[in-house]
Amino acid sequence: VTPAHGTPERAQVVVVGTGAGGAVVAAELAEAGLDVVMLEEGDRHDRVATGGAPPAALRTLYRDRGLTGAVGNTVIPIPLGCAVGGTTVTNSGTCWRAPEAVLRAWEATSGIPRLAGDGLAPEYARVERRLHVAPVPEALLGPGAALFRRGAVALGLRGGVIARNALGCRGAGVCAFGCPHGAKQSTDVSYVPRALDAGARLHVRTRVERVLTDAGRAAGVLARRLDPAGRADGKPFVVRADAVVLAAGALLTPVLLRRSGIASPTIGRHLRIHPAIRVLALFEEPVRAWEGVPQSYHLHELEPDGIFIQGMFVPPGVQAPNVPGFGALHKARMAAYDRMASFGALVSDTSSGRVLAAGRRPLVWYWLNARDRRQLVRGVSTIARVFFAAGAREVLPGLRQRPVLRSMREAETLPDVQARAADLEVMAFHPLGTARMGVDARTAAVAPSGEVHGVPRLYVADGSILPGSPGLNPQLTIMALATRIAAGMVGGRLSALDGAP
Ligand SMILES: Cc1cc2nc3c(=O)[nH]c(=O)nc-3n(C[C@H](O)[C@H](O)[C@H](O)COP(=O)(O)OP(=O)(O)OC[C@H]3O[C@@H](n4cnc5c(N)ncnc54)[C@H](O)[C@@H]3O)c2cc1C
Repeated sequence: VTPAHGTPERAQVVVVGTGAGGAVVAAELAEAGLDVVMLEEGDRHDRVATGGAPPAALRTLYRDRGLTGAVGNTVIPIPLGCAVGGTTVTNSGTCWRAPEAVLRAWEATSGIPRLAGDGLAPEYARVERRLHVAPVPEALLGPGAALFRRGAVALGLRGGVIARNALGCRGAGVCAFGCPHGAKQSTDVSYVPRALDAGARLHVRTRVERVLTDAGRAAGVLARRLDPAGRADGKPFVVRADAVVLAAGALLTPVLLRRSGIASPTIGRHLRIHPAIRVLALFEEPVRAWEGVPQSYHLHELEPDGIFIQGMFVPPGVQAPNVPGFGALHKARMAAYDRMASFGALVSDTSSGRVLAAGRRPLVWYWLNARDRRQLVRGVSTIARVFFAAGAREVLPGLRQRPVLRSMREAETLPDVQARAADLEVMAFHPLGTARMGVDARTAAVAPSGEVHGVPRLYVADGSILPGSPGLNPQLTIMALATRIAAGMVGGRLSALDGAP
């Protein structure tokens, strides 16, 4: 839909962003009969067109070609999606409910009701049904994960197959570059079509600049249309609405709130990212780890301690910068691509960061503390042990002091290394918590209803609202909370949304 510039469009609800949070709210509200407009900065893409190829995906599906991140005591890449479907288009499709201990802690510290003790279970179950969440079938486990499982069993470590939202997955192995078959139920193929079928309107290449208020209440948004190269065409247009839902993600939502003059001191603070590190292993025999689902198996042995380990594997052009060595050595290692396997560890961060607004861009500060650094090294050590138990010849742990490990013994002594932040090849995929939810306006930006404290009719429904690190992949929790927020907006609990599967 192309709005006439200068003519304010009207809706009951305008939703900013179509990722995990925004698409869910939009679909639930539209299916409940509300007049909804979705605004998305990115474009809508045909999966077949990008075909899961990294260069095309980085250009079209990621924000700033995947080069977003944080600075502090090191530089941490934090790639974000920028397309209809948001980061769900380029995520791994892994679906976890937050652990009970986490939900209990959130309930206690934030005052959000009905999280623990299956309090959030109805919302989780609804999302899981809609996304067809199911364990990865054995045939798609992939050879890298099968090796890893063998090593984990040999060491007596508890692990298991991951549940994902990939209906009819064929194991193309390029989830992070857009599923070429449209199997992964990212919101562009699940919730957004639901919203459209229920009558919602979608404006793509439309960047919201700020929220408009009327007598202190949210009254709409001011946006700009972008050309295909992402340049603003200079003509603002306005959507007037009875309610505004911000779901631009945990790095962009605080920028929008700040630019809109919303003053809560917690906005932009308490950033959590789940710092993560990848570990590569080289085997004697071909592994062909690109076959099957890259993230199909996990270890939950260390999950109660805040370390979560799961599969990952990327195409050679993306892998190469993470393979240590130069010249002939690097070439030889890359020539062994078919003998590589990789797994990653993420930690439930006690470190924290902050998002500031640099114009319309986020300036992200994050300080990786000593405890989280030790946790990362522990995670790396565990992955390395598992790979050696599975027969790896050498392990490349992503740690400056020990770029290559050649024995189980070296893997076991890794936690003795005192790593500075810059010694670790850290990445992060889960920005969260920058407009956190809670009953107390002094410590939380958003009330349990999703409404911003002190600004009636302005809601936040994305990763920003999580009160802390869930310790594992967050999309299902974001979607469950978004479902609850939508239910509240239509004046009831989940029952108000019943009638649709
Ligand atoms: C490589 C990768 C793999 C991942 N794998 C998993 C996984 O397997 N499982 C899991 O649970 N999580 C995974 N995640 C994380 C997960 O995808 C995110 O946590 C989740 O999508 C965040 O949802 P959100 O609604 O907060 O934001 P997003 O999904 O990022 O959506 C925000 C949307 O808002 C749009 N937007 C931003 N600013 C504006 C504006 N001003 N105007 C209009 N639109 C705007 C953006 O373009 C974007 O489309 C992964 C992430 C990455 C990067």
